[in-house]
Order: sequence, then C-alpha cells, then structure tokens
Amino acid sequence: MSPVLEIEALSAWYGEAQILFDVDLTLGRGEVVALMGRNGAGKSTTLKAIMGLGVRVDGAVRFLGQSIVGAPAYRIARAGLGYVPEDRRIFKGLTLEENLDIGRHPPRTWPDGRPAPSWTQADLFRLFPNLARMPGRAGGAMSGGEQQMLTVARTLMSNPLALLLDEPSEGVAPLIVEEMAATVRALKAEGLSVLLCEQNLGFARAVADRAVVLEQGRVCFSGTMDAL
Ligand code: ATP
Ligand code: MG
Repeated sequence: MSPVLEIEALSAWYGEAQILFDVDLTLGRGEVVALMGRNGAGKSTTLKAIMGLGVRVDGAVRFLGQSIVGAPAYRIARAGLGYVPEDRRIFKGLTLEENLDIGRHPPRTWPDGRPAPSWTQADLFRLFPNLARMPGRAGGAMSGGEQQMLTVARTLMSNPLALLLDEPSEGVAPLIVEEMAATVRALKAEGLSVLLCEQNLGFARAVADRAVVLEQGRVCFSGTMDAL
C-alpha cells in the first residue's frame, strides 16, 4: 500500500529566502510521525508547503497517490487532509457547537472504496471532555488552550483521512495535553495518519511511531522515537 503522504525533495521559499532544502518524508496509513527541531527549523513551513499556503515550493507532494503541489489549500482539505495551523482560527462570536459545525463534512471513503472513520459532535465531546463541559460557550469566551482543542475538534468534524497538526500542545495545560495525546492515539487506532509538529518531547514520545528532525530546513534525523 502506498503511503498516505509522500514528500520528496521538498524545498520552500518565502520570497527569496529558502527555508526548506530537499526534505523527504513519508507518512504511512495509521502512522504518527513527529516533525521536530528547534525554533525556526522549518517545521511549520513544511506543513504550509504541503498545504500550498504562503510559500513557493519545489519538489513532489502526494496525498493518497495524487500530486497536490500547486493545488489550492481548500481543495487539499476537501480531499481529506486536515490541517490545524499554528494560529488558531475560531469564530469568537459563535458558540462551541456552531464552531464545530463549521468544520462538518460528510463521511469519506478510502481510495479503495472502504468507509473511512467519521466523527460526530458527541464523539468529539467524548474525546475532549473539557469541551463537553462548556455547552453553548462563545468561542471568544474560551481560553487559549480550550480554543486550541476546539480547532483540533473542528478539523476532526471534517472527517479527515490524515491530519497535519502544528504544535497542538503549545500553551496548553498538562491535563489538556493528555487529552490531545489520547485523541491522537484514538485517531491512530482508527487508521488515520498524523504528521505532528511538536517541540514537547514528552508528548511526541507518547504518541509518535517515528520522528523526523529538521535543522535549518534540512532533515538531520529520521528514525524511531527510541533512536532519537
Ligand atoms: P517554531 O518552533 O518557532 O514554530 P518552526 O520550526 O515552525 O519554528 P518556521 O515557522 O517553519 O519554523 O520558520 C522557519 C524559518 O522561516 C524561520 O527562519 C522564520 O523566520 C522563517 N519564516 C517563517 N515564516 C515566514 C514568512 N512568512 N516570511 C518570511 N520568513 C518566514
Ligand atoms: Mg512552528
């Protein structure tokens, strides 16, 4: 079975400044890969380059065997690649439930036609008990960590086939990091693949099968969490 996401010789530029240099990375079905590295190493840029957002790219990116280089981000998302960016976008004037509803997409199938996992609001409230405790709450009246959970939950409402998560544990209390970790494990158990930018080594170790480490835009390590 071909990988869910295949990245070959991916380079990326902001204007004239080259940020990524020939990055290779694959994400198999049901695999969780931690993309690690120091501040500024190029982790977020890798996710932006995959989604075609705000960077010029060169190289190959295939999602479920199809090239997605040059495709607009909304179309990539519609094809089932969920993306939770660094800057959390919630609708402050809408309630928690309305925010979740905005992400909704009908259930999907895998390329071979089998049904893919799908999530209801009730499922997400089971995954994120902290969200379940605030029915009707306005997005703007939620803490940073709660908004972070909401963006992950809203992306799951789109029933993605794979997920790109940019530092879901950032600025989040340890208890909620635990919920995030449990959620990532639940997604993996359902056969979803997750590429996780993460600086929190504890969190990465708790969920990831493998790590890819970037240094100044180049892959400097790729291997098991134990070898890291
Ligand atoms: P962090 O751990 O701090 O989130 P990161 O590994 O995600 O870091 P990136 O955000 O990918 O790092 O940034 C990589 C490099 O690209 C940095 O040197 C950064 O200054 C630069 N950069 C990021 N965004 C832009 C932009 N919009 N325009 C120009 N340069 C940028
Ligand atoms: Mg980043």
